[in-house]
Amino acid sequence: THFGYSTVKEEEKAGKVHEVFSSVAAKYDLMNDAMSFGTHRLWKDTLMRRLRPSHRTKLLDVAGGTGDVAFRYLTHADLSAGAAGEVGGVEPAAVDVDLEAEAARLGVAPIELDEPVDVTPPSDPTVVVCDINADMLEEGRRRAREAGIEHRLRWVEGDAERLPFEDGEFDAYTIAFGIRNVTHIDRALAEAYRVLRPGGRFLCLEFSHVPNPLIRWAYDQYSFQVIPPMGTVLAGDWKSYQYLVESIRRFPAQEKFAQMIRSAGFRHVTYENLTFGVVAIHSGFKM
Ligand code: SAM
Repeated sequence: THFGYSTVKEEEKAGKVHEVFSSVAAKYDLMNDAMSFGTHRLWKDTLMRRLRPSHRTKLLDVAGGTGDVAFRYLTHADLSAGAAGEVGGVEPAAVDVDLEAEAARLGVAPIELDEPVDVTPPSDPTVVVCDINADMLEEGRRRAREAGIEHRLRWVEGDAERLPFEDGEFDAYTIAFGIRNVTHIDRALAEAYRVLRPGGRFLCLEFSHVPNPLIRWAYDQYSFQVIPPMGTVLAGDWKSYQYLVESIRRFPAQEKFAQMIRSAGFRHVTYENLTFGVVAIHSGFKM
């Protein structure tokens, strides 16, 4: 590839990625919990805290799989609407006034403060989950149906390298544990840039490199000795989990990946390590 870190042939890689995720789709969520001791949930929550979405944030979650990031987006958008007291996140004036006296002065009914605020989400979906694998999307749809929130999400089968969306359609683009699986990372980044509006934000959550040698040693032991056997026991599948570990090691380290994001045109590119650099959140803006 352009960046010279891939050892797997391209067609082989795409086929392999498809096979891996089709075979694990149903067990995917269970496996995430088992292998990360549930930590992937905290990582995804941190991703959403960085984005701080409102109901007006049009989000595209690429490689969205079974919808984990999109579901969290909805929760965070609802929370921010609740906190702001209104749909769309209009902040109430944080001033210290006697509301009854003020209402009398203006000749209007005083605001009932214990009246529930309207946090009804918008009727059209504001989040699109895009994934190349129909089995993963189907599992996500099923989860959304179960949670009664299917009307709030749109599921689109598509390739991160050729997104089926217009230029500038989205306020935010997220990709969690997905870009590592893409054949041409530079093309996926170029597509992210294209579909974002000016001012839009790119956020990527991905496995990264642990700089501390001692912690890295322990992490390597865990990755190579524990994960493939665990994959065999829980999902009856050694190869997929061996692929997982290897693909993590092949993925560029923090600084190099940040440089690739800059090369795609993004500005104010930063990254943040979580859990000693086991994963990192990279961020950039389309200016
Ligand atoms: N984002 C979800 C999460 O964090 O739970 C799913 C991550 S899962 C490890 C990786 C996903 O990337 C799979 O669902 C796979 O189908 C998808 N994927 C792989 N290559 C892709 C591509 N070129 N375009 C879009 N999605 C892709």
